[in-house]
Amino acid sequence: MEVRCSLCGKIDVITKIHKDYMKIARSNTTYVCEMCQNKVRFNAMDKNKPKKPM
Ligand SMILES: [Zn+2]
Repeated sequence: MEVRCSLCGKIDVITKIHKDYMKIARSNTTYVCEMCQNKVRFNAMDKNKPKKPM
């Protein structure tokens, strides 16, 4: 399945082993690539925003 990162626009191909595959396939959850996830996590920590642990 091809997904586009909603932050940087990069196209990634994910398979069923991807941890968010079901979520994305089922409900069109926006996909964020690994690189941006790290960035977001870093920013979230910076803002001390509550976020559910993955
Ligand atoms: Zn990205």
